[in-house]
Formats: sequence, C-alpha cells, structure tokens
Amino acid sequence: MRCPFCAHDNSQVKDSRPSEDNTSIRRRRQCEGCGARFTTFERVQLREVVVVKSGERREPFERLKIEQSVALACRKRPVAQERLDQLVSGIQRQIETMGDAEVPSKVIGEMVMEGLRQLDSVAYIRFASVYRDFTEARDFEEFASSVQEMSAEEIQRRESARP
Ligand SMILES: [Zn+2]
Repeated sequence: MRCPFCAHDNSQVKDSRPSEDNTSIRRRRQCEGCGARFTTFERVQLREVVVVKSGERREPFERLKIEQSVALACRKRPVAQERLDQLVSGIQRQIETMGDAEVPSKVIGEMVMEGLRQLDSVAYIRFASVYRDFTEARDFEEFASSVQEMSAEEIQRRESARP
C-alpha cells in the first residue's frame, strides 16, 4: 500500500481489526519510508460497477461518495455512525447484487433517499429537498455543496411548503 505522505511503496501492518458492523477490516499501517501512520479499510466488493451520471458521463462506483453524502445529511443529527455504515453497506450490497454493470446515479440517489427516510427525518428532508429540486442535468453528488449551507429554518420552511 503506497504511503499517502511520501508515496513510498511499502508499509507495514501494525494492527488489524474488524469495524464495528463487521463489514470491513481496518488496518493501521506504518510507512517503511517516512514512518507515517495511516489507516486502510478492506471491504468485500462483489463486482465492479460503473455509475452513469448526467450527460452520460461514467465513473467507477465509489462507496466513499455515498458515505460523504449520507454523513452530510446527518450532520449534527443524533444518528450513530454505526447506523450510517449499515445504511451505506446496504446500498452498496444492493447495487452490487443488482446484476447490472452500469447503474444510473439517479437510482443511487433514490436508494440514499429511501435509506435516510427510515433513519432520520431531518436528514431525509435535507437530502430529499435538494435532490428533488435537481433537474435531469444534475446528479445527487451536487447535493453536498447545496446542503452545507442549508439552515434549520430553511429545512422547516421547505418541509411546511411540501403538499
Ligand atoms: Zn511515507
């Protein structure tokens, strides 16, 4: 594993343990070049999936992007990290078992929305209010930049404006 600090090619595993929800292995590593410590995660990936974004752009599926969107939606909400991990793992499993080599980002956005709905109403509204405003030309990742500035008052306002 290449060191993220000095790009040295070798690192030693100092510690290895399963994550709380037991879906990944967390390894503490130390660079053999500069001695820096960093952490890597090992997860099951059933198959390679490509995400089709707006304008037919394609990119490899990345769990991290969903993790970031979900974490942002749940910012300062009383939702345990473990629940978020479970939600993201569930979505990842669904995507990988769908059997499609390509998945539209829209489909992933819907899965995130549905998962958040069951987890926390405020997080759901944050995500859904931004996501549903999107036109076809945009995709759910833009949610991240939009939601950051959304105040509690605005969430309230959007919620009460909903039919
Ligand atoms: Zn290094």
